[in-house]
Amino acid sequence: MKFRWLLSWLCLTALVWPKPVPRAPHVQQPVISPQAHLNWTFSVPLPGPPPPPDRYDILTIGNRPCHLPVERTPWRLDVGDMRFWPILERAMQVWNVGVQPLGMNYLFLPADREHPADIVLRWYDPQLPRDKAAATWWSTGLDVARVLGISLDGNFRVPEGNMVQILAHELGHVLGLGESQQPGDLMYYRTSSRPLAMQEVQLSPRDFQALRWLYAQEYYTPIRSPRD
Ligand SMILES: [Zn+2]
Repeated sequence: MKFRWLLSWLCLTALVWPKPVPRAPHVQQPVISPQAHLNWTFSVPLPGPPPPPDRYDILTIGNRPCHLPVERTPWRLDVGDMRFWPILERAMQVWNVGVQPLGMNYLFLPADREHPADIVLRWYDPQLPRDKAAATWWSTGLDVARVLGISLDGNFRVPEGNMVQILAHELGHVLGLGESQQPGDLMYYRTSSRPLAMQEVQLSPRDFQALRWLYAQEYYTPIRSPRD
């Protein structure tokens, strides 16, 4: 009897006493564990170099542009006739200086005892068409473009700067650049009609843009020398 009374009293107190307020947990369980964030990678697409300018050709085989494999630079050039050495020296410099902003190696250097020539320039080539100041000869296959030679008209009586422009233009072809239709470009398909000083010959911003795009292309057909 006494036990029953005690039980009912306990039930009554349970109803009357205020319920304890639930305490906020000290540690919040994170919904996503920190490790889950390691799977996140941020790929911010880097803008590639702008495409070649309008009316500016790039040598292509199939759909692939052609350029020198960078590990095969510098190309070694033999002037062939020492009277034209100052012309070759300046023409190589036009490209070597022109690509400096791209952080590229020298593209052309003279051949020497340790470095045999990739190409020997031909200044009096009977095969050169009479209406041409210079020509670059090629043989092309499915997966290679091979430069066979560069011929120039050694009898062409123009100022040295114009000769530099003509040779530097042909070296541009060796690099994989085609003809430009815009006067002022080194790769403009016609020779300059005004006398040029040697130091005037340089890459135009369009030549630079085309070269920068070309040498950023991962998929390309290699241009090789006759001895490659
Ligand atoms: Zn040309």
